[in-house]
Amino acid sequence: MSQFDEKAGGARPTAAWPRATTAVAGVIGFPVRHSLSPLLHNTAFAALGLDWSYLAFEVPPGSLDRAVAGAAALGLRGLSVTMPHKDAAARLATRRSRQVRALGAANTLRFDEGAIVAESYDGDGLLDDLRDGGFDPAGRRCGVIGAGGAARAAVLALAEAGAYEVVVVNRTVTAAWRAAALAPTVVRVGRPDDLRRTDLVVQATPAAMAGGGPPRETAPAAQAGQAQPVPREGKDEEGRDAEVSPIVAGVDPAWFGAGQLVVDLVYDPALSPFLAEARRAGATVRNGLGLLVYQAARQIKLWTGAEPPLGAMWAAVGGNVWPAGPEEAAGPWTGKGARQA
Ligand code: NAP
Repeated sequence: MSQFDEKAGGARPTAAWPRATTAVAGVIGFPVRHSLSPLLHNTAFAALGLDWSYLAFEVPPGSLDRAVAGAAALGLRGLSVTMPHKDAAARLATRRSRQVRALGAANTLRFDEGAIVAESYDGDGLLDDLRDGGFDPAGRRCGVIGAGGAARAAVLALAEAGAYEVVVVNRTVTAAWRAAALAPTVVRVGRPDDLRRTDLVVQATPAAMAGGGPPRETAPAAQAGQAQPVPREGKDEEGRDAEVSPIVAGVDPAWFGAGQLVVDLVYDPALSPFLAEARRAGATVRNGLGLLVYQAARQIKLWTGAEPPLGAMWAAVGGNVWPAGPEEAAGPWTGKGARQA
């Protein structure tokens, strides 16, 4: 019997489910109502036939300690952790993975017989997604825009994956230095136009959703610290009004071209202004949906021990990692996960 009531559009559990024995996991963040994680995880649990349920908990800043203590006391199996709680989650854990210790941030908690185990899967999720698409960072020149939690996870993961170098470009240079200190032999703080000479660029700021750099005319000479949203005129390629600049922290995506892969960790919109411009310039582009799917897959493996059903998970979120239209969707960057049944 389906655990969902067909008459209620398939979204409402039957009276017989969830049961007293149903295992519960969830995501904590603020805000969290937009999160795709419940869809991803509940799809995976259903595909695996597991008596598990996953909920979203909106926990205001400053309330994490009480929320996590309550979750542990209630017997929750695990929590995904999103902004603004990643640093606090790392602090309150009783066991921390190597990545969590290095980054001082966690995106996953597992409750294990009184212990609170913290993991950070953003970096591994990025690497899984890059490799899924055929890009191995080993020996490659990489750039990361941003120096927040996601950027730092990307920097550490790329360095540990054997990148030849990782150049960090950020609006605030002190934060970039902190990110570079994660792996000083491989990572350095760079100028925006240093990213012209990279094989991979990871855009890891929220600015790509709303625009974020200095005016296009001044971008090549732009210095960290100048970035401001800039109104633009005209139409974009979809015929919509182009309201914002695609430039982020002084990096103009129009600089990129053939042979370069540009990943924007933003996945809503699927094609950010930054990615759209990079694609127009000839670069291969990919959004952050793959990271989301792969870090969730690692959480499922950690909590349940089961192999995550990647095909079902990709299908649930639309599989649109490669927001470049039907012709490119048939190409090498569709991702193996998206093709699995
Ligand atoms: P965060 O810790 O708040 O870091 C924000 C970073 O973005 C900082 O380096 C900040 O620079 C920079 N920034 C913010 N606004 C900017 C602007 N207008 N112009 C230039 N730089 C700007 O955030 P986060 O957790 O790292 O997340 C970053 C992005 O990645 C978010 O959009 C998030 O949704 C996305 N993300 C996606 C996934 C996924 O599953 N795909 C996972 C994690 C994060 P300063 O240092 O100068 O303030």
